[in-house]
Amino acid sequence: MVTVGVLALQGGVREHQELIESLGARAIAVKKESQLHDLDALIIPGGESTTISKLIDAFDLKQPIAALIASNIPVLATCAGLILLAEEVDGKPGFFKNLPIKVTRNAYGAQLASAEAVVDYQDGSENAAFIRAPKILDFGNSEVIGRVADEVVAIKFGNIIGASYHPELTNSTMLHRKLLELTASN
Ligand code: GLN
Repeated sequence: MVTVGVLALQGGVREHQELIESLGARAIAVKKESQLHDLDALIIPGGESTTISKLIDAFDLKQPIAALIASNIPVLATCAGLILLAEEVDGKPGFFKNLPIKVTRNAYGAQLASAEAVVDYQDGSENAAFIRAPKILDFGNSEVIGRVADEVVAIKFGNIIGASYHPELTNSTMLHRKLLELTASN
């Protein structure tokens, strides 16, 4: 069975696990290095990116997570997770820097600051929750996979899927299904 680790230091974890389980895979909450072994995919959830980065450092998880991502494992990074993987955040170098994107934190005005919006994908549309979401200023050479009107909100680069929103809070399964598809072709 496919096993997906959900980084469980802070932020939305349980909903991601439930979505993965509803799609027929196993989900485990990852809190320490030993739980990073034998995963088929990794989810870095939303929360507060500065707090999550500090906890990653405090638990000595930066190097093992970076190594896992470098091994080309499929990754889904949402909201704060997207911020952690961005190359540039608010004009400064990002934390893991795996995604060739520039983001700015908490950049949406009232419209998308804390709201549900319909995300359009090539193969359907789903509601998702935007909670103090990062704005993707430049998606570099990543592939755009989701938009809200003209706004790029989900991208894919190699085996990494990144989204500025919380798909797990509206039971939106599109990104999780895409993640599991990547494990099948990995
Ligand atoms: N605003 C948060 C941050 O900067 C991200 C928001 C979220 O993950 N819901 O980390």
